[in-house]
Amino acid sequence: MLVVEDLYAGYGLSEVLVGTSLQVKPGSVVALIGANGAGKTTTMRAVSGLLRPARGRVLLDGAPVQGQAASRIARLGLAHAPEGRKVFGPLSVEDNLLLGAYRRLPRFFGFHGRAAADLEHVYELFPRLKERRRQAAGTLSGGEQQMLAIGRALMARPKVMLLDEPSMGLAPVIVQEVFRTIRRLKAEGMTMLLVEQFAKTALEVADYAYVMERGRIAIEGTPAELARDERVLAAYLG
Ligand code: ATP
Repeated sequence: MLVVEDLYAGYGLSEVLVGTSLQVKPGSVVALIGANGAGKTTTMRAVSGLLRPARGRVLLDGAPVQGQAASRIARLGLAHAPEGRKVFGPLSVEDNLLLGAYRRLPRFFGFHGRAAADLEHVYELFPRLKERRRQAAGTLSGGEQQMLAIGRALMARPKVMLLDEPSMGLAPVIVQEVFRTIRRLKAEGMTMLLVEQFAKTALEVADYAYVMERGRIAIEGTPAELARDERVLAAYLG
């Protein structure tokens, strides 16, 4: 489904990714963990086209997409819920969600009908968003904004979702709520690549995990395998 092969990317002269490779199989949840600055967010950005990789390949359903515009990669089925949520503050919750569907753009046939069905699905996952549908997104709490960012990504009916630190800045009880939703999406068959600081929480939901160190994958395995790995225990699960 999603294959990243020997990816190199950075900012100006600073190389951040130096040969990152990973795979996300259909219907699986894959966690990407690692210390601050290891390059997790940069990996997400290079995969979704927000950052142009210098070298390497990104395959979506077998087709190379590296170097293509983010909007095109999104249309091909990859949705990115970025770190820091990035909702459109002045717009209502519902308009933010509809913007997520806009990329699909079936302008001439039934945009409203299909978007309405997707809206209902998102509102069913996040009843809080439904209650606040007319409220400006910028006035939502952090947890609600995170739910909105995930909901907006879902509106594009993606094949693969990239979730970058959905727990960032949230109270523990809200983190649990966000992860309940991630579990539910997984049960519905959604394919997800999840970046998480809370390694333990991420490994509870993931089928497979990668540990990133200094721009490349240092350790990989199933959560059970990683939980037995001395290095992972010491650095991330201690
Ligand atoms: P964190 O968990 O702290 O978000 P991360 O693993 O996601 O860390 P990245 O955000 O990918 O790490 O950052 C990797 C490196 O790239 C860091 O050293 C960071 O300072 C650098 N970096 C990130 N964004 C930029 C940018 N826009 N310009 C220059 N350097 C950047």
